[in-house]
Amino acid sequence: MPKQIAHYIGGRRVVGEGTRTSPVFNPATGEQTGSVRLASKNDVDRAVTTASAAFADWSAKTPLRRSRILNRFLRILEERTQELAAVISSEHGKVQSDAAGEIQRGMEVVEFSTGAPQLLKGEITENVGSRVDSYSLRQPLGVVAGITPFNFPAMVPMWMFPVALACGNCFVLKPSERDPSASLLIAEWLKEAGLPDGVFNVVQGDKEAVDGLLEHPDVAAISFVGSTPIAKYIYESAASTGKRCQALGGAKNHMIIMPDADMDQAVDALMGAAYGSAGERCMAISVAVPVGEQTANELVTRLTPRIRGLKIGPGTDPEAEMGPLVTDQHLAKVRKYIDIGVKEGAELVVDGRDFRMQGFERGYFVGGTLFDHVSPDMTIYKEEIFGPVLSVVRTKDYSEAASLINKHEFGNGTAIFTRDGDAAREFAHQIKVGMVGINVPIPVPMAFHSFGGWKASLFGDHHMHGPEGVRFYTRLKTITSRWPTGIRAGADFVMPTMT
Ligand code: NAD
Repeated sequence: MPKQIAHYIGGRRVVGEGTRTSPVFNPATGEQTGSVRLASKNDVDRAVTTASAAFADWSAKTPLRRSRILNRFLRILEERTQELAAVISSEHGKVQSDAAGEIQRGMEVVEFSTGAPQLLKGEITENVGSRVDSYSLRQPLGVVAGITPFNFPAMVPMWMFPVALACGNCFVLKPSERDPSASLLIAEWLKEAGLPDGVFNVVQGDKEAVDGLLEHPDVAAISFVGSTPIAKYIYESAASTGKRCQALGGAKNHMIIMPDADMDQAVDALMGAAYGSAGERCMAISVAVPVGEQTANELVTRLTPRIRGLKIGPGTDPEAEMGPLVTDQHLAKVRKYIDIGVKEGAELVVDGRDFRMQGFERGYFVGGTLFDHVSPDMTIYKEEIFGPVLSVVRTKDYSEAASLINKHEFGNGTAIFTRDGDAAREFAHQIKVGMVGINVPIPVPMAFHSFGGWKASLFGDHHMHGPEGVRFYTRLKTITSRWPTGIRAGADFVMPTMT
C-alpha cells in the first residue's frame, strides 16, 4: 500500500481538501511507493493565511532568537543526514552519498543564515545635514513562497527558506510532486528546533498549487527553481501581480578544455560533472569543448573506457557512482534525445540506451552516453537533456569555443581547464555566464556567495542565498531624522539640501 504524502500547515501534517493525487515511485525499482496529495487553491489559501497569521510574532523576534532556532535545526540536520539522504534517494534515485552531499550544501546555507544578527545590520550616516542623521534598515517582506524542482529536494529549498526565515519572513514551500517526502521531514525538524507553528508550511501539488501561490494577494515574493519555460511563466505571472520574483531556469553548461590543460584532471572532472546524479543537475556539464583536434582526440579516447566502466546501481549501493533517472517518462525523454542525436548525424561513441540493471530491470536506468562531432545546430546541443549524455563539440581555437558559449540560450555555469593564466582571466571576464569555474568543473558558489545564472537560466534581478538572498527577502527602508533643538528654521519650499 503506497504511503500517503500530505501537506504541512500550521505545525502539523494535514490531508487538505484537494482530492487529486499523484503517484511517487522508487526510480531504482519502478515500484510505486507513495501517493502525494495535490493541493487545491483552498489548501494554498489555508497555508498562506496560516503563514500570514504567524508573521507578526515571527518578524518581531530578535534576529538572534531566529538565528538560535536555525542553529538547532542545523544540528538536527547534522545528526540525521543519513536519514534524510535515504528518503531523497528512495524518491529521486540519486546515490545516497550524493544525496548526503546535497544536504551538506543546503546546511551551509542554514549556517550562513544563522548569521542573521550580522546580516541584518543596517547602515547609518551621522550628520547628513545639520543635526540630521540618516539610517537604512532591511525589513522582511511577509509571506514568501518557494517552488522547487525534483532534482535537489533538500538543497534547493534550503537555498531559500533559511535566508527567508532568518530575515523574519514566513514561508510556504511547494516542492516537486515527484519527490515530496523530504519537505515533510524538513518541516518537522524545523518545528523540533523550536520554529513556531505556521512560520514554515508545505503545500504539495502541481500547477494548481503554483497558480494559487501566484494569484494569492498575501504572497509577497516567489522564489522558483525549475525548467526555463516554467521559470519564465512564473516570473511573468508574479511580475504582473506586483510580486518580487527570482526564477531560476534550465542550463546547458560547457567546459572548455585547452590544449595545455592537465588531461587527467579534465577527464576526472568531466566524469563527475557529466555523469554524477545521472546528469540531473542544473550545473552538470553537458557539453565538452576541446580546443584543437589533438586535444579532442585525446579527450574522447580517454573518456570512452571511463564511461563504459561507470558503476551504475540503485541509490542504496555504496559502490554506485550513478543511479537511475527520476521517472519512466524522463527515461523515455532521455532515450529519445539519444535517438535524435544519431538521426541528426552526431557520432554516438558510447550508447547508454540499452543499459539494463541486473536485478532492477523495472528501474529507470540509462547508461552513460557520449556523442562526438556534435555541431551547434543539433537539437542535442541546443536543448537541455538533463540526463547522462555528454556532447563533444570540437573547436579550432579559444575564440571559437568562447563564442559558442556566449551565443547559447542558457548561461548557468561553465568551466575552463587550462594552465594559461591569460586564457583563464579572459574567460572569467568575458564569458556571458553567471557561474564560472577555472579548473573547477561545477562552480556552485558557497553559501556566503550567491547562486544564479544569466540569460534564459535566470529571470529576475537577484541570485539565490548569500548577500543576494538577504536583499531578495528584505526591503530597504531609509529613515532621516532630526531631533528638536529649539531652533526654528521656518517653512522651506525648495528641495531639501544640505545647507
Ligand atoms: P519543472 O520546471 O518541471 O518543475 C519545477 C517546479 O514547477 C515543480 O515544483 C513543478 O511542480 C512546477 N511546475 C511544473 N510544471 C508547471 C506548470 N505548468 N505550471 C506551474 N508550475 C509547474 O522542473 P523539474 O523537472 O522539476 O526540474 C528540472 C529542471 O530544473 C531542469 O530544467 C533544471 O535545469 C532546472 N534546475 C535549475 C536550477 C538552477 O539553479 N538554475 C537548479 C535545479 C534545477
